[in-house]
Amino acid sequence: VNSQFEPETLQEVVVYFSDPKRAFDYVRRRRWPNGTICPRCGSKKAHLIESRMIWRCNGCRKQFSVKVGTIFEDSPIPFSKWLPAMWLIANCKNGISSYELHRALKVTQKTAWFMLHRIRLALQEGTFEKLGGEPGSEVEIDETYIGGLSKNMHEHKRAKRIRTPGVHDKQAVFGMIERGGKVRTYHVPNAMRRELYPRILANVDRDAKLFSDRHKSYFGLDRYYSHEMVDHAYAYVLGRVHTNNLENYWSLLKRTIKGTYVSVEPFHLWRYLDEQSFRYNTRKGTDAHRFYLALPGAFGRRLTYNALTGKDFAAAGNGAN
Ligand SMILES: [Zn+2]
Repeated sequence: VNSQFEPETLQEVVVYFSDPKRAFDYVRRRRWPNGTICPRCGSKKAHLIESRMIWRCNGCRKQFSVKVGTIFEDSPIPFSKWLPAMWLIANCKNGISSYELHRALKVTQKTAWFMLHRIRLALQEGTFEKLGGEPGSEVEIDETYIGGLSKNMHEHKRAKRIRTPGVHDKQAVFGMIERGGKVRTYHVPNAMRRELYPRILANVDRDAKLFSDRHKSYFGLDRYYSHEMVDHAYAYVLGRVHTNNLENYWSLLKRTIKGTYVSVEPFHLWRYLDEQSFRYNTRKGTDAHRFYLALPGAFGRRLTYNALTGKDFAAAGNGAN
């Protein structure tokens, strides 16, 4: 098999990457297509100790593996499990639960849960091009509420949450979708103007045509955009004035969250939003292409267990999203 191998199916992922050396060569080529760069000091001069699949850096004199500075760092899980997990989460339309992954890969459910969250981090969009930049682009905006996230939450945790001011069972999610293009969603504290406006202005090009319902928070957007609103009390579609793409997106999102994930703590909701956005934004590609796109997001990102479980809020990433 040549060194530019790209897997086309889940079966190829499983078979090919069951060989640790092949998996190592693949990940290394995807991470450093133009030669190894030390993740600690940036030196391009490192020599590979083939037998151990580890480099010794001539710059800082330290050793590093291909996992250092990635979501795989500090994980004893081999690529023969990581890569199929990545394929599954990138391609399963309704997501995959830690229970399913635990059975599929023979890892503990806790490990599977941690792996899935790390992979979600990799799926997070890296570039922030504005939506609606093309001439004639149309962008829908809408908010929704995701409820009952904590159905299976332990009693003491639930009690703690109810005592926390501003934390309710219904979580507000705000979304923007470019027709025929990408979606972007945020977990927001509420759907008031002061939460939504900055996100619209930061994410939607001024030349885009904006469509929404008549939710009060959207009033006044015509100062910045060509903006039309449909009054859902009377109609859901008036020609091009509708938010149907987002409505469909919300129902898919809710199906995934309720059907697959059963319980999602509000603290982690944005991770599931990003996972769903990744699949939507790559919907025109093949499974192989989605896998190809997902892997580079693993590089240059890390997620520790403490950050994930809320013991280290500072390192938890943009949880406020
Ligand atoms: Zn170095």
